Amino acid sequence: MYDLVVRNGRMVTPEGLSYCDLAVDEGVIVAVGSKLKGRKELNADGLLVLPGVVDAHVHMALPVRGDRSSDDFLSGSMAAAAGGVTSMVDFTVGSPRTDLVQDIDARLETAEPSVIDYGFHCEMVGWTSGRENEIPSAVEKGVTSFKFFTAYGDSGRRSDSGALYRCFSKIAETGAVAVVHAEDDDLIRSLTAELSDDEKSSMTALSRTRPDICEGAAIDQVAFYGEVTGASVHVVHVSSALGASRIEAARMRGLDITAETCPQYLYLTDQVYRREDGHLYSASPALRGEDDGEYLWGCLGYGALDFVATDHCPFTSEQKAWKGSFSDLPYGLPGVETSLPLIYSGGVATGRIPLETLPVIMSQAPAERYGLKSKGRLAPGYDGDLVLFDPEARWTARAEDLHMKVDFSPYEGMEIQGRVITTVARGEIIYSEGRHLCEPGRGKYLFRNTRD
Ligand SMILES: [Zn+2]
Repeated sequence: MYDLVVRNGRMVTPEGLSYCDLAVDEGVIVAVGSKLKGRKELNADGLLVLPGVVDAHVHMALPVRGDRSSDDFLSGSMAAAAGGVTSMVDFTVGSPRTDLVQDIDARLETAEPSVIDYGFHCEMVGWTSGRENEIPSAVEKGVTSFKFFTAYGDSGRRSDSGALYRCFSKIAETGAVAVVHAEDDDLIRSLTAELSDDEKSSMTALSRTRPDICEGAAIDQVAFYGEVTGASVHVVHVSSALGASRIEAARMRGLDITAETCPQYLYLTDQVYRREDGHLYSASPALRGEDDGEYLWGCLGYGALDFVATDHCPFTSEQKAWKGSFSDLPYGLPGVETSLPLIYSGGVATGRIPLETLPVIMSQAPAERYGLKSKGRLAPGYDGDLVLFDPEARWTARAEDLHMKVDFSPYEGMEIQGRVITTVARGEIIYSEGRHLCEPGRGKYLFRNTRD
């Protein structure tokens, strides 16, 4: 008799679909087979059983210019649970005045209320020479990925070539991963300087000052530093066909470089910036053209992009109120709760992505890239993190029905096929049919290491 058995479901793994039961004991998957018996049983008749989603790019309670992204770790993790997400990787809040270990300790405190498991990437900002030597001590604290910005020089977050080279060298030594927001700052600055006052007060200037060339140029740069230092590189939120093609080019050279894209770059285009509420879609990278989205879907389908993450960084419409210039807006969109249904609906249901690829791009690949060794697969020995998903259910996205603390949805009114019914995390039913069944603080810190 097992603690929990999921019966009669169609289990989706990279090997394909199988009709079987799945048993969890003490939070860990212990058996996959038939006629398993549990003290508690979930009937998954008619449903898909997927591994819990690993969202490796979220920003809960992110401080931005005296404000914070609108989800904290409690509301954001509850929204995540409702979206089938059972693990997330957030970021420390770096500064020139604190070291990486202090940043990790502070973030551990902020993250405590989370209802799902969480890890961190160390944000590398405020570069001073010698900071690369803090990297091994962060690894000792269970953080094995380090986030760099090639853009945002104005706010002091940019890593210049010297910082990239030194830190990548240290990252290669420790076996960690360099995580990069890749946009060429010089190019952005030059294009911004050319804007007339009229253009500055238009939302469409956001995408014109951060075109795909910025992304492509910065990817080439960080790929090169990865190549010469031997560091593993992961590029976050690839938004354009040009960017994705530079990832492919680097891979053709045999580099250890991976990349993610996000639902907003698959679904939304820069046409939204022409709308009256276009300012609500402020994000960086900016949204692109329709062809870019189609190209990125293709990349996910055949493995040229490794996984989906959301870059969940919600701000309310009040926080995003238009003040006359695109550069006065906080950048970021909500997404942690809608990611799995959107990828199923636009990817699997349309035939762009094979069903057996879904657990790879949503769970397994991010878990493997970031060393979340107990996560991402439906197999004995892995954590009992899973989602019961109704592939036939149709629903309409409405901000008011979602749990994220945002009063608008970028997908408002969109018809979506596929819905999360139940979310199980380490064997515990944390969400089912609209209700949360978990206590704040049940999520655990995912301590990672770079060994084996
Ligand atoms: Zn981000």
